[in-house]
Amino acid sequence: MKLVCMHCGKEFEGNNEKFCHDSCRDAHIMSLESRVRESVKEDSSHTKKMSND
Ligand SMILES: [Zn+2]
Repeated sequence: MKLVCMHCGKEFEGNNEKFCHDSCRDAHIMSLESRVRESVKEDSSHTKKMSND
């Protein structure tokens, strides 16, 4: 079964896999986590501004 890696877009052979390699999976998870951290940071600064009013 030919699949396309969710991280690098490379085609690879696999079964219900989303990534061609563990390093791609790790890199993808890390980028997701940093995106979540950024949105949390924005939320907390927004909350801080609200509480100062
Ligand atoms: Zn990949």
